[in-house]
Amino acid sequence: MSITVRIPYKLFHPVPPICVCCGSNHTQHDFYVFQSHLITSLSTKFPLCDRCKALIDKRKGSCLIVLVSMLVWFGVICLFRGDQRYPINIITSIIVSSLTFLILRLYIIKRSRKGLSQEEIVLQNKALHAAKIVWYTPFSTTFKFENEDYGRWFSAINGGQIIR
Ligand SMILES: [Zn+2]
Repeated sequence: MSITVRIPYKLFHPVPPICVCCGSNHTQHDFYVFQSHLITSLSTKFPLCDRCKALIDKRKGSCLIVLVSMLVWFGVICLFRGDQRYPINIITSIIVSSLTFLILRLYIIKRSRKGLSQEEIVLQNKALHAAKIVWYTPFSTTFKFENEDYGRWFSAINGGQIIR
């Protein structure tokens, strides 16, 4: 179960010294979270263990498929150059690039799960979204954690409150 907590604004938030995803004590890595509004941004980091880091790293390439899909969209638009059959050119480019995105995404997910047990697949899904900043104001920051115990601990040491 995930948990959402609201923490009063501070420059630095102390964080529980265990893996933000699985709760392991062996944390050699960082899990970064980032959120931005129009002109401001906020980032912070949480401890991450070797195992969860490796599971996250297996999903690498997710940013690349957005780029490839945009290139495909642009390529199809270029194919229609000099042939302004609006809106068929726009619709075709959107359909082709969306299909490219979906196929590549399925491929990346399938590849990232290769050789993993069912338990590791569940942990991988959890690790990918282990923590995030949902919202922030000058007075408070709202975090969401996949690991409920971690969220409760983080909230307790920061004088926060549990939203849900
Ligand atoms: Zn972990």
